[in-house]
Amino acid sequence: MDRTITQSDLEFDARHIWHPYGTTPSQYELFAVESASGVRLRLSDGREVIDGMSSWWCMVHGYNHPVMNQALKDQVDSMSHVMFGGLTHKPAIELARKLIELTPEPIQTVFFADSGSVAVEVAIKMAMQYWQCKGLTSKNKLLTFKGGYFGDTTGGMSVCDPENGMHHLFTGILPEHHFVPRPACGFDETFEEHHIEAFRSELESLNHQVAAVIIEPIVQGAGGMHFYSPDFLKKVRELCDEHEVLLIHDEIATGFGRTGKMFACEHADVIPDIMCVGKAITGGYMTLSAVMCTEEISKTICASGPIMHGPTFMANPLACAAGVASMEILSTGEWQHQVANIEKKLWDGLSPCAELETVDNVRVLGAIGVVELKEPVVMSEIQPRFPEQGVWVRPFGKLVYIMPPYVISDEDLDTLCKAICTVVKSIS
Ligand SMILES: *Cc1c(COP(=O)(O)O)cnc(C)c1O
Repeated sequence: MDRTITQSDLEFDARHIWHPYGTTPSQYELFAVESASGVRLRLSDGREVIDGMSSWWCMVHGYNHPVMNQALKDQVDSMSHVMFGGLTHKPAIELARKLIELTPEPIQTVFFADSGSVAVEVAIKMAMQYWQCKGLTSKNKLLTFKGGYFGDTTGGMSVCDPENGMHHLFTGILPEHHFVPRPACGFDETFEEHHIEAFRSELESLNHQVAAVIIEPIVQGAGGMHFYSPDFLKKVRELCDEHEVLLIHDEIATGFGRTGKMFACEHADVIPDIMCVGKAITGGYMTLSAVMCTEEISKTICASGPIMHGPTFMANPLACAAGVASMEILSTGEWQHQVANIEKKLWDGLSPCAELETVDNVRVLGAIGVVELKEPVVMSEIQPRFPEQGVWVRPFGKLVYIMPPYVISDEDLDTLCKAICTVVKSIS
């Protein structure tokens, strides 16, 4: 296949292909990528841009990584896919082994799914089935924070932020769950009892209806990029235990080092009952996710029967082989220095934006940097300015944010931060 992109390719694309949260024909200019290497995307117009997005959190080791490439080449030559019903294979076993090693001791089982959203569906099903198996069928509601994002399938959507999410489009179709305000206690703020009051009283008043609390630990991602206190998360765990409610952590965005810890729950030293991982699990090479749970959950469900889920591409060998390679790269521990360095450089590089009149605040955690504006950006205006500055950044709403690949150099990180400051200033 010739990978050059012509004007007529772009016209075809705009007419016939949907892009994320997009229209056909597309309202916005698309930038065509012909190849990518390290932290750089090569656009069809010849420009090279530094990727600040890690292709939406996942490309943590950079593009065209030799170890990742080789792992996939080897796997292709052995077996690209095989059904997982009744069959098994080494890439799945090896990846499950590594995931169980990485996660806290009580977490002992792995369900491989094909995307983050599907992982969330499976996690919700697990929680519901768990209580059914215990004969507590009235425990069938979820409780979450406002400002969350859990994917675009119905189960996930039903717990996404009720205002920014898609609820208004699907009223009457989505299952109805319960919401409390997002944690008001920032990552570095001192936790006080009043911070948890709304959550506590909602959990108390819902009295036996709640199957699980489902939350993104420490960082609420696409719902607003808010960082909250580890002590708050600890308290959530305590209250879940007290009220016999399961705790589901969605670590799809935060997992595998992004916040400075392997998993965000480690900031608070808490262990969820069910944990979803995805995105960076394959170093961004293939779509794959996993739902992990404690032995207590798997044993309870399986005492009554099977888990009722089984996607066609469950544990796809290519994806699992990419996962194994990604875990091997992470196991060197180098990511810890990289993320700590990125955190420092993001503070230095993005702080100047805080002086701008249009900027509400700048915040950084691990390899995540956020410039929150006072007004939402105009996408058609702001988007093309980033490639003009030699970078790829994709803002949404009031947020201009980046989560670069861990392998980014100091120099490229400087360019990225300077580009953001320049662009944000230019729209002032
Ligand atoms: C991206 C994301 C999802 C959905 O994952 P997909 O692979 O896009 O389906 C779910 N939860 C969180 C926290 C995410 O960041």
